[in-house]
Amino acid sequence: MILPGATLGILGGGQLGRMFTVSARTMGYRVVVLDPDPNSPAGGMADEHIQAAYDDPQALDRMGALCAAVTTEFENIPADSLRHLQRHCQVHPSPEAMELTRDRIREKTFLRENGLSTAEFRAVTNEEELRAAIEAIGTPALLKTARFGYDGKGQVVINEPEQAAAAFAELNRVPCVLEQMVELQTEVSVVLARTRLGEIACYPVAENIHVEGILDTCIVPARIPDPLAKLATHMAMQAAQRLGYCGVMAVEFFVTSGGKLLVNEIAPRPHNSGHYTLDACVTSQFEQQVRMLCDLPTGDIAQLAPAVMINLLGDLWSPREPAWERLLEHPGLKLHLYGKQEARPGRKMGHYTCLARMLDTALAIAEEAKHLLTKRLSA
Ligand code: AMP
Repeated sequence: MILPGATLGILGGGQLGRMFTVSARTMGYRVVVLDPDPNSPAGGMADEHIQAAYDDPQALDRMGALCAAVTTEFENIPADSLRHLQRHCQVHPSPEAMELTRDRIREKTFLRENGLSTAEFRAVTNEEELRAAIEAIGTPALLKTARFGYDGKGQVVINEPEQAAAAFAELNRVPCVLEQMVELQTEVSVVLARTRLGEIACYPVAENIHVEGILDTCIVPARIPDPLAKLATHMAMQAAQRLGYCGVMAVEFFVTSGGKLLVNEIAPRPHNSGHYTLDACVTSQFEQQVRMLCDLPTGDIAQLAPAVMINLLGDLWSPREPAWERLLEHPGLKLHLYGKQEARPGRKMGHYTCLARMLDTALAIAEEAKHLLTKRLSA
């Protein structure tokens, strides 16, 4: 067990790293952040910010020498960097789990092999495979890069088979998956924490509304039938078990128009759809990340009030920063800003969570606050 007073490290200093850092420091740990960005959101919150590339051996040596354990905030950290750190200290999640979950081909193959349903897909690494995949999957379909895709980036919709070659070229013919376009009823996710010994704590199922491929609204508990929520929880736990996973992870699902549950992807880290846990649960997903990293038991996941989380994207900063005083008039609204200096369209700048005794009330407050923000935009 790694106890308060020890130093923890995180690779990546974005908003997830920042919220991890705040949680860890609240609990009395020291935190070292490694991130090349001098203005990284987490850097300023940490005891030390090592400003270097993720594969800089000297930076990794320094981090390893300072830290009892290291985790990451995103899956694209080079696996060799994690292995380098393993020579010095504990590293969770494992390089193997990171390598699997950051590659859509490996991830979807793993899910299928373990009996977890996904949308129909085929790996595409050349033109011939692309032709065969279009034949097998049909259209409409989505061509997604196997790696480095997030928030709907690195994806092209193919409506007609003739568009396939151009779509592959647009993605620079890197390895891809061709995925059947699913008719969605809704999307949900499950965030869980799993200890090294296999104890699992699963948060309630979250309902996720995306706009242009980016999470916009997260409603918890999800408004889906109970058996479906139980199945999602069961499937997420199975994925974690089969991976031998230690840490916090999120499993995103599609609920098809026919009511079927398909795994979309696994994130080996806290997730945007778990941000509500900061304000609504006994233990937040970031405290769980600290607990899992330190080999402590899972914290209580109980949700104390229904919650609705809304992401604040950079678009809202144009032509000027939103009038926070209006939002903050709501006593049940919790504002989180990530301290990012530059607001770009689509960039996650912050979020707010609305809590109320009834979900409908939380939803109404969230909508009203959203209206205030967007009304100002169009004024
Ligand atoms: P992803 O980056 O793969 O998580 O995709 C981002 C979003 O695009 C998802 O949350 C869905 O809203 C949508 N999407 C992705 N894949 C599919 C699919 N096969 N069918 C329908 N919608 C999809």
